[in-house]
Amino acid sequence: MSLSLIAKTIKASPTLKLNEKFAILKEKGDPVIHLGGGEPKSRVPMEAILATVAHVNTGEVRYAPADGIPALKQAIIRYTEEFYERKVNPEHVIASGGAKQAIMVALQAILNPQEEVLFPAPYWVSYPDMAKLIGAIPVPVLPEDGTFYPRLKDITDRVGSYTKAVIINSPNNPTGAMYSEEFISDVVEFCEKKDLWLIMDDIYHRLIFDGRKPINCYKYAKKFDENSKIILINGVSKQYAMTGFRIGWAVGNKKVIEAMSNIQGHQTSGPSVVLQKAAVAALNGIQSGVESLRATLENNRNVMIDLLRSFEGVKVTKPDGTFYCFADFSAYDKDSNILSEFLIDKVQVLTVPGKEFGLDGYLRLSYCGTISDIQDGIERMKWALDLNSPNELYIGDRKLVRDWS
Ligand code: PMP
Repeated sequence: MSLSLIAKTIKASPTLKLNEKFAILKEKGDPVIHLGGGEPKSRVPMEAILATVAHVNTGEVRYAPADGIPALKQAIIRYTEEFYERKVNPEHVIASGGAKQAIMVALQAILNPQEEVLFPAPYWVSYPDMAKLIGAIPVPVLPEDGTFYPRLKDITDRVGSYTKAVIINSPNNPTGAMYSEEFISDVVEFCEKKDLWLIMDDIYHRLIFDGRKPINCYKYAKKFDENSKIILINGVSKQYAMTGFRIGWAVGNKKVIEAMSNIQGHQTSGPSVVLQKAAVAALNGIQSGVESLRATLENNRNVMIDLLRSFEGVKVTKPDGTFYCFADFSAYDKDSNILSEFLIDKVQVLTVPGKEFGLDGYLRLSYCGTISDIQDGIERMKWALDLNSPNELYIGDRKLVRDWS
């Protein structure tokens, strides 16, 4: 069959594929544990639920403007003032179908085919394929010092005449690393000097630990309003546990937001008005749920890190935020795809191979589930990988016997 050249370069999202696999195993009644998840398990804020129901109950659910309803834009403007101390206007804001679509239309608005977009590795799985979708070139940059914390030099070394944009995601999916103020300020200054677009993917910016405070990239900017080439990305998926509502947004200069709105207008139109109303309610409602989610995740992180540190052969860096931990399992297998398959087959624990994030030998483990999932999941992994552990393991009333060495 003749598919387009671009279609042939695009892989299925590995994390979405794993979710499907989990659903199939669960449906079969298998005692599978999902340590690969990318969504908090807390309840959607009550205000958001009520707003959804109220709008559906009107019986009139219509098209929404391509760039978002005014009430959502106002809520985003208030959010930007609160967290970024920046006053913006409705023309500086677009609401999209998740942060994913906001990033996608941003890339479509700023990149030509063959131009390059740089981002630190390990990186969120979608960045490379999003760039490829428009014929642009993804350039992942692994920190030279072997940490998860890039330095400006890592970026500057790779910038060339085709570089058009940089994406920074901090705290980072998959490592949980929150980059320093100094790094963010260096990147902002560098991008302004080189006239590069800077996409700040701040989707996890409030889910941070150990007393850290969200970083405001605009604090270091010298160019504002129509001269700013920062595109700030955020959304309700993670902080309000509203992944299924598919509402994200971008803040940028008027021209780029207009271009993004035009593109989105032809692509999907505006996101569902019902879900936009839910996002407004979450953003304007009681915020204690965000802090309680953050505190739960910090506790879960501590539990997971303690368990992994007692796991001989595994090297782990303590995440500063998000709900992911990116651990080095290369002592067991250098091929993370093989290792991840092995763990699902033998002990029914779902993990995401590091290769998908640009670093093989690692596994991404999520701690957004329950403490018992974390404890049981790591215990099963330890049993499967540590050949000094007893030959048998009970999962409920199922007895597993190790038949590998
Ligand atoms: N950026 C990053 C770094 C993410 O991890 C995700 C979701 N996994 C997104 C963007 C997209 O989020 P949304 O659900 O709002 O599309």
